[in-house]
Amino acid sequence: MSAPAVGKTAAPALSAPQKALRKLGLVRDIDLALHLPLRYEDETRIVRLTEAREGQTVQVEGMVTNCEITFRPRRQLLVTLDDGSDTCTLRFFSFYPSHQKALVEGARIRVRGEVRGGFMGRTMMHPSFHAAGGELPDALTPVYPTSAQLPQAYLRKAVAGGLRRADLSETLPSELLRSLEAVVQNAEGPLFTLRDALRYLHQPGPDVSLHALEDRTHPAWQRLKAEELLAQQLSQLVAKRERDALRAPALRAKPGGLHEQLLAVLPFALTAAQRRVGDEIASDLARPVPMHRLLQGDVGSGKTVVAALAAAIAMDAGWQCALMAPTEILAEQHFSKLIGWLEPLLTPLGKRVAWLTGSQKKKQRTEMLALIASGEAALVVGTHAVIQDQVQFQNLALAIIDEQHRFGVAQRLALRSKMGPGAFEETQAPERRRSGFAGPRGPPALPLEGRSGDANRASDGGEPHLLMMTATPIPRTLAMSYYADLDVSTIDELPPGRTPIVTKVMSDQRRDEVVERIGAQVAEGRQVYWVCPLIEESEALDLSNATQTHADLSEALPGVLVGLLHSRMTSPEKKAVMDMFKAGHMGLLVSTTVIEVGVDVPNASLMVIEHAERFGLSQLHQLRGRVGRGAAASACVLIYSPPDGGRLSETARERLKAMSETNDGFEIARRDLEIRGPGEFMGSRQSGAAMLRFADLATDGHLLAWAREAAVQMLARYPEAAEKHAARWLGSKAEFLKA
Ligand code: ADP
Ligand code: MG
Repeated sequence: MSAPAVGKTAAPALSAPQKALRKLGLVRDIDLALHLPLRYEDETRIVRLTEAREGQTVQVEGMVTNCEITFRPRRQLLVTLDDGSDTCTLRFFSFYPSHQKALVEGARIRVRGEVRGGFMGRTMMHPSFHAAGGELPDALTPVYPTSAQLPQAYLRKAVAGGLRRADLSETLPSELLRSLEAVVQNAEGPLFTLRDALRYLHQPGPDVSLHALEDRTHPAWQRLKAEELLAQQLSQLVAKRERDALRAPALRAKPGGLHEQLLAVLPFALTAAQRRVGDEIASDLARPVPMHRLLQGDVGSGKTVVAALAAAIAMDAGWQCALMAPTEILAEQHFSKLIGWLEPLLTPLGKRVAWLTGSQKKKQRTEMLALIASGEAALVVGTHAVIQDQVQFQNLALAIIDEQHRFGVAQRLALRSKMGPGAFEETQAPERRRSGFAGPRGPPALPLEGRSGDANRASDGGEPHLLMMTATPIPRTLAMSYYADLDVSTIDELPPGRTPIVTKVMSDQRRDEVVERIGAQVAEGRQVYWVCPLIEESEALDLSNATQTHADLSEALPGVLVGLLHSRMTSPEKKAVMDMFKAGHMGLLVSTTVIEVGVDVPNASLMVIEHAERFGLSQLHQLRGRVGRGAAASACVLIYSPPDGGRLSETARERLKAMSETNDGFEIARRDLEIRGPGEFMGSRQSGAAMLRFADLATDGHLLAWAREAAVQMLARYPEAAEKHAARWLGSKAEFLKA
């Protein structure tokens, strides 16, 4: 990975607003030009107070008839404004002597704010104001997203300047302009150019309606969104091409080798879906190019064994593999499963499975590090500890990341960089290509078509193959957009014999019923999880809540061994509890969300989630996936408690409804996307700092489809224009996409 370019010349000291601009990523003229208004204010009119509706933001002009400081309920400045039609109270909780000076009795002022009715008559909280008179602007005023250190007026000026100076020349070749024109919806006139679209949105003319601007389907918006999507698709194609130019060891399954031996010892037959994705992965591994594949499959679909089979291929060829999981419990579970399956097969080869976590004793850790460095450890399983500096692999060929959405870009990159220095004879060429837009071998060929021979690839450093796994499936539009350069394999089938989980949503008032049901399950020899919500503000509160629940349930269920698991426990403590639960000795496990991912206890058949309204949809689905792993009929009870005297929020209700209506992870993901929007869905860590600012994948599918095709064409035929386009839109963010 080449590091993003950083400024080389010493810059003069920056003022506070300049620093704030930088913080918002508004550095280049084009960044400013592409910083679009959040909304607009209509300052073209002055409204009479009697005509102002409750909740409306208006501009009024009048005379101050009273100005005083009161102290009840707290210190505030109260100003009475009379515009001839009526009066309004202006209320300021924070104010300076300059306020009092400008708002003295008798002053004529122009005020802008939101009108609230109330017991005491009309009020405005913290309105903006200045002296009355002065010309009214003849166009809408843009309001930009900003930060505390950056006054709106300063930003407005900066944006206007950026817009004036930025190079907004056309980057799209005419054939792409034509194809874009054909997909833009509701266009009455010709296609907007980028320059016109930006002018239209930053500096709307006097006759443009507020509605047309704020509705992001306007053709000017569509032009911007299409450009943005194109830039994103381009940079992903380039990332893919750069990766394709790297080398990785070609790994093939040997007849009679570890892969076949592992299949033979598994206590079950693979599902058709597992076989299919296994083949997809095997054919990636056989190529001398690093694999970059996401394996998605609903909770319980059996991803672990697919990963183990991939690892077997690599280990058989004499290479090392690493498996990284987000939590110690999960890593531990993988470790014991993989040891069980693989160690008998590895021992005759003189190889072992190593184990690495943060909480490990120094002695054991040193021992493990030595095994890894010598290559004796063919497989390394662990948490984030796997990517720490001291960990030196002898010859890492395959890196597997479980629950990859829990890791950040930097961590994925770190794992990829773990390929040992001696892995290839050829070292990295001194001048690596700066970007994949136009390589040293002339204009690139179509990136998605057949690959040329391997002969030219030796100049780049080696990389391990990368397999990422997730139980949070990515809806198709997101996969196309965010992961355009990622190969995706999907396990779309659960192992046979599972009965679907029945989900019930219940109010807290029926808690006793739930407890009764737990007793019945345990009496039948089944096991139960009870999940307490994480209390965001306070870990201590969180803990006391879980502890209290544990005590209550222990009392309510005499004769049932009730365990407790929370994040403050040490790893050995957690492990001891988990082991008891796994062994079936413990009927009920009360836990905070530490059990969220991947825990596998097939005998557990009931999942109770308290304060389910506080959880996100994918989290609920993950938690529910802890049951229904065996043949027994399983259930999930979502207990909700509305806030005191209130109602659940709309989104909370939607989430609970979705949970009760479907068990399908893809459908859940689709609804989650609908409820939350893609930015939140992916998390900014994931998406490379919210790559899409304007396009909305829920509504702009037509533009995304265009961008996908356009990117391929543009890169093949107009690489320079493509590079210019991507640089304009993404600047230094492009680096993120490569992870
Ligand atoms: P996940 O995809 O959620 O990581 P796991 O890999 O933990 O799922 O698998 C869930 C359970 O199903 C495990 O107990 C695993 O051993 C079992 N399993 C996996 N594949 C099969 C199969 N083909 N037939 C039966 N059981 C399977
Ligand atoms: Mg798993």
